[in-house]
Amino acid sequence: MKPRIISSYPDAVQHIILPVNLKKPSSIPKPIRAAVKSVTADEECSTFILDHRVYHLICTDNKDYKALMYNAITCAKKANGKAIHIDLTGVGRHEKIVKAVIHGCLLSDYNIHLYQTKKVKKASRRISISGMESGVILRKIIAELTHQVEAQKLVMDIINAPSNKLTPAQFAQKIARTLKPLGIKVSIFGHKQLEQKGLLALLAVNRGSEDPARFVVMEYRAVGKSPKKHVGLIGKGITFDTGGISLKPSDSMHYMKSDLGGAAAVFGAMYMIGKQKPQVDVTAIIPTTDNSIGTRAIKPGDVIGSYSGKTIEVLNTDAEGRLVLADGLAYMCKNYKTDYLMDLATLTGSIVRALGYHAAGMFSKNRALQTQLLKLSDHTYEQVWPMPMWDQYAQQMKSEIADIKNLATKPVAGAITAAKFLEAFVDDHPAWVHLDIAAVAFGESPLSKEKCGTGWGPGLIWEWIKNIESSVRKK
Ligand SMILES: [Zn+2]
Repeated sequence: MKPRIISSYPDAVQHIILPVNLKKPSSIPKPIRAAVKSVTADEECSTFILDHRVYHLICTDNKDYKALMYNAITCAKKANGKAIHIDLTGVGRHEKIVKAVIHGCLLSDYNIHLYQTKKVKKASRRISISGMESGVILRKIIAELTHQVEAQKLVMDIINAPSNKLTPAQFAQKIARTLKPLGIKVSIFGHKQLEQKGLLALLAVNRGSEDPARFVVMEYRAVGKSPKKHVGLIGKGITFDTGGISLKPSDSMHYMKSDLGGAAAVFGAMYMIGKQKPQVDVTAIIPTTDNSIGTRAIKPGDVIGSYSGKTIEVLNTDAEGRLVLADGLAYMCKNYKTDYLMDLATLTGSIVRALGYHAAGMFSKNRALQTQLLKLSDHTYEQVWPMPMWDQYAQQMKSEIADIKNLATKPVAGAITAAKFLEAFVDDHPAWVHLDIAAVAFGESPLSKEKCGTGWGPGLIWEWIKNIESSVRKK
């Protein structure tokens, strides 16, 4: 439900979300200034009661977008499904804060309990907003965020779904069912077509599985004859990663249902693009399979083919994401002429060790593109950080018996050598960027007591598409 913009607090509403800068008392609405003074705003959400109303205070000092958004989720959840009112009086001129707070409130009713039989009442939370000077800007923020949150809920549902409830075929069907009504062309290749087209690396990863792989191509074409750019998106869609014969340790293996975070992000972004209809053409590809053990599964040391024609020595069957991406990237480069190319993947544990849980690793030789994404990510929930792409790292991926191998010789710089592997399949694309989202797509969130999908992706991709659209318009 879209939030209502009103001029003052509605009578019936008992829960007020109040973002304030405590260092600037003038930013606090007058009637409650005295009460706020007695509150020390903690990291998340401080609550006090005044005149039968519960105020949830979000301290905005020096917070990044993600922290503000997560604080807003925590506050809104405290209202327990009841209607909330967001008072923007103190922060109305700070678009980033306004966006992050509304964003968190909209996301707060996400239902994590996908497979519980006792159905929770579908909480469509009523939200009203006051205190922002420019109604035009606020309406635009709300319109975009509404679509973004819908997209993020799709992303989270896909990541939170266990592998037995979301096979590659079911994932592909879900994509078609969701995107076709938005005017996006969706083509799904099954096993036979994968063989005919020679998507051999995807087929190799799929060998150990009972469930056939799918290769999904989504095409959004902007209407109108004005000149436009073409963006290519590719997402790694491993519905479950056992590691294959190079089996993963069992302790946290259940988290491996989340190994399709890149594909989910691309799916969510395409949903948002279908809703917002930018003047940019977008083609997206999702290669999807699980990585299982079976008598036919590929074994360490096997040499496999790929769509690009290159042969790959598989040193470790757990480095399978890059194999399916290799086919996705090569297929995109051979069949579509794109101005920009982005792939997203929960690719390596190495990126988690390098950057922790706050940022995705960003790999590109195109400095302008890197700078642009770095700047945009600052105004979204999705932060990225640049990583090196020097060619020396590619030495590690040379194979003696095949064209390339899928794992570096030395166990260092694993996220970078993975990116260098992918680079071999992008046909020297001048504006390719790879985002390793292993640390950010699935993790701790105020939406769940356990690790869950975070909805990472659609926000940043959408800001990027808008930026590309406006750069063409300016010319
Ligand atoms: Zn793996």
